[in-house]
Amino acid sequence: MTNDPGDSRKSSPSLQDPVRYLKGVGPKLAEKMLAKGIATIEDLLFSLPYRYEDRRELKPISKIHAGEKAVVTGKIVASGKTGRRWRPGFQAVIDDGTGALALKWFRMPGAYLEDKLKKGRVVIASQTARKYGPLLEMAHPELEIFDEGDEPDSSSFNRIVPIYSLPEGFSQKSFRALVFQALEKNATQLREILPPDVIAQRAWPDIQAAVWNAHFPADDADLDELNQLRSLWHQRLYYQEFFLLELALALSRKGLNLEKAFPVRAGERKSQQLKQIIPFQLTRAQEKVIAEIKNDLARSRPMHRLLQGEVGSGKTIVALFASLAVIDAGLQVAVMAPSEVLAEQHWLNLHRWLDRLGIACGLLTAAVRGDEREKILAGAREGKIPLLVGTQALIQERVAFKRIGLLVIDEQHRFGVEDRLKLKAKAGKRPPHILVMTATPIPRSLAMTAYGDLDISLLDEMPPGRKPPATSLLSDREVHKAWAELKNRAQRGEQAYVVYPLVEESSRLEIQDATRQFEELARKVFPELELGLIHGRLAPEAKEGVMEKFRRREIQILVATTVIEVGIDVPNATAMVVEHAERFGLTQLHQLRGRVARSEKDAVCFLIAHEPLTELAKERLKTIAATADGFKISEADLRLRGPGELLGTRQSGLPPFRFADLLRDLKELALARNDAFHWAETNELDRPDFAALKKELWQRYGSVIHLASVG
Ligand code: ADP
Ligand code: MG
Repeated sequence: MTNDPGDSRKSSPSLQDPVRYLKGVGPKLAEKMLAKGIATIEDLLFSLPYRYEDRRELKPISKIHAGEKAVVTGKIVASGKTGRRWRPGFQAVIDDGTGALALKWFRMPGAYLEDKLKKGRVVIASQTARKYGPLLEMAHPELEIFDEGDEPDSSSFNRIVPIYSLPEGFSQKSFRALVFQALEKNATQLREILPPDVIAQRAWPDIQAAVWNAHFPADDADLDELNQLRSLWHQRLYYQEFFLLELALALSRKGLNLEKAFPVRAGERKSQQLKQIIPFQLTRAQEKVIAEIKNDLARSRPMHRLLQGEVGSGKTIVALFASLAVIDAGLQVAVMAPSEVLAEQHWLNLHRWLDRLGIACGLLTAAVRGDEREKILAGAREGKIPLLVGTQALIQERVAFKRIGLLVIDEQHRFGVEDRLKLKAKAGKRPPHILVMTATPIPRSLAMTAYGDLDISLLDEMPPGRKPPATSLLSDREVHKAWAELKNRAQRGEQAYVVYPLVEESSRLEIQDATRQFEELARKVFPELELGLIHGRLAPEAKEGVMEKFRRREIQILVATTVIEVGIDVPNATAMVVEHAERFGLTQLHQLRGRVARSEKDAVCFLIAHEPLTELAKERLKTIAATADGFKISEADLRLRGPGELLGTRQSGLPPFRFADLLRDLKELALARNDAFHWAETNELDRPDFAALKKELWQRYGSVIHLASVG
């Protein structure tokens, strides 16, 4: 490449220069690139190819078979227009001494190319060969044209070449040449942000080599690895991305550990009382997790723990034991659910036990108004209500607690990293201990990212005798089979749920739908049984009334919108029918059916799918019917939705990765987590040699992750 001393050297080139500083990029192309998210030269250098093509070897034309993707070179022996006047094409025949091959265009290739494809010139062409006429041919090949004796451009031939996802207005060749130009001009400005000892310890190639090679690999590179986007160069880039995130998480943790919480030196009195009244033995897993939590609570730095356990594994009782320890120590507990309905369910479950222990337990949702509300607010403020259940409004409205010691957040999957921290910040002067509970098994990849700032406790054992419900998929024409089974079970004294999807919590139309179906079921299908209906628009007392009847078995079949997704606990209910199962998410279905596996009786779950089904919906239903393993289900969920969905701003508040893929690159993620947490323990980010790292960290994660407290 020639260097015109007059142009780019005027001011020193920078990675932050806009792409139009590159030769050949005018305002129009720059705009198209911007549409692809490529604004600066750095963006361009970080736009990695999605696959690679092997053009290392030129094949003699005589050795090529139809159907084979090949690269050939030869001299043009004839060229000209082909086809009809009203539909002209173009053809050039090349010969390399071993044979001849036709290069074909079915539209005119444009004057520029026509002009260059003159007899006597030399071309290199790459394309899948095929055979229709007498000669082998390549249609619309990628080309390099030059005069005999000239050197061809080195970016596109005689090597492994990159294939990109293109902005409009580019060909592979022109984009490739642009990347090549940028690398030659600017690659030396790529700076390491990883600490040198970290690079040395993992023996990573340097950043410049990594970026060069990820675009233009050396001839001895492993093509398969490259095409899986898993070459050493790729790994290094993924690692770097993960290292940044993990360092942010590690620093956030470090900051949290400096905070002072009320240490809870648990009295055992209330715990012992509870043990006496619960009608079962705690599982070993529950005992273990309760011990882990009490251990955390006893420290003066705030607990940040995620309790993860399948639906029905008994998380509520674990939270209750933790709460009792805190209450015994004279502190208060706030339990938060992601919706009003779920808060009510929780309150129903908890106050049954707390009443018997003589502990006051309040519910605060938007539906609680007037005097009742004032009474509860005063109770919280004066410390007379030791346990308060509610939605996020608990914290957002600045409900004042006298001394809050523990914040229990249920069903974490609807809160993000950011929400979690906001809640904590608002909870009081002394940060409370935090226990997050989720029934959604968290794949390893997410445990290390979206949940990476939490310690994890696993309830990996179900109460004895629980069997996952036998799940069958039925079409809407087969729904009578499900109704027949429900009748059978009702005769045996067992109960059932029929669930209708409710996309919004209290969408009027959907409730009308569920109500109509309910009436039809009651009249036509189960005239001899008692049915109940519950949905988000019912007043809390009405809901409680229906639930109470269901618990007392006065209702055999409970028709419900997804309000029962979390929290309902009726062991005698052993069957579930899910209407429009295709509209539910995987983990949602898994949680729903968990409602009927709460005893030693055999449970069944019918998923009714209504045509037409999307491919994704089919895949989801097949998965849920085939496996009862929550981990497999959430892995599948992650795969089907794509990590972007789960890790996008909406869910976790984390910015998306530029290169890395959580599922594909788990190995680098684990390394980076290990290294970053270790590094954060033993280093101070404030040293001047880590300035670049610090800047990058703040740019990327400063607004999301709680870095402030570490300076
Ligand atoms: P989840 O983890 O889904 O929140 P719950 O806490 O609602 O589960 O518990 C599910 C059911 O199992 C409840 O009826 C609860 O009382 C019961 N349960 C909890 N622990 C045990 C246990 N060790 N043995 C038997 N039943 C239990
Ligand atoms: Mg629960």
